[in-house]
Amino acid sequence: MTMNDVYNDYEEILDLLKQYIRQEQHDGVKIVKASSYKPEYELQEKSPVSKSEVLERLAEEVAQCRRCPLGKSRIKAVFGQGNPDADLMFVGEGPGYDEDRQGLPFVGRAGQLLTKIIEAIKMRREDVFITNIVKCHPMKDPTSPEKRGNDRPPDDEEAGICRPFLLAQIDIIKPKIICALGTYAAQTLLDTKQTIGRLRGRFYDFNGTKIMPTLHPASCLYQASNKKYVWVDMKMIRDELKKR
Ligand code: SF4
Repeated sequence: MTMNDVYNDYEEILDLLKQYIRQEQHDGVKIVKASSYKPEYELQEKSPVSKSEVLERLAEEVAQCRRCPLGKSRIKAVFGQGNPDADLMFVGEGPGYDEDRQGLPFVGRAGQLLTKIIEAIKMRREDVFITNIVKCHPMKDPTSPEKRGNDRPPDDEEAGICRPFLLAQIDIIKPKIICALGTYAAQTLLDTKQTIGRLRGRFYDFNGTKIMPTLHPASCLYQASNKKYVWVDMKMIRDELKKR
């Protein structure tokens, strides 16, 4: 596949997104206005660019983005990190205190555990791509970004406004499997309100990509017995990747 194909696919996914929004509006669902935002980079036909370069340009857009309220209080936007050709992508809910300061995903205690989880299936952190539903730190009290313990999940409007960036990342990287980490990421990607306990342990289809929801690593820090469920899900991911 050429980078032109990547851009064409990207255009298609934006069209699908617009159709989805029109249907939702028809069904009476309130749609946030920036969901139709289109990242601004353009294909240069005569100078094809690599996936890394496309991702870098998208990351520059994210770094400048202030489209939702999270952009006002964040310290650093957290685009994501990893292999542009990754077969496995992890998606969490949003950056926390440490991530906001470093501009990198999953670098706190939960992130260290995620690295161990990845290594448990004989992969390295640099083999996968790690990102979040929203790219800026959602805070309970945005006037106190210096406080620890000030994290909260994103709300649906913030997630909707940020969604084109995640869809673009998925379309560019084309992972074989997306592992949704925790309740909010799983519910948002799968458009459901079911609990993570009910969702985890099986694959779902997401526009041709498999999604495996599992527990957030932070939940394993609070309750060590949760690790056994994550291990079951990760073994399923490992076995599925081996088939391909
Ligand atoms: S969370 Fe997403 S939409 Fe909101 S300011 Fe950050 S990059 Fe922009």
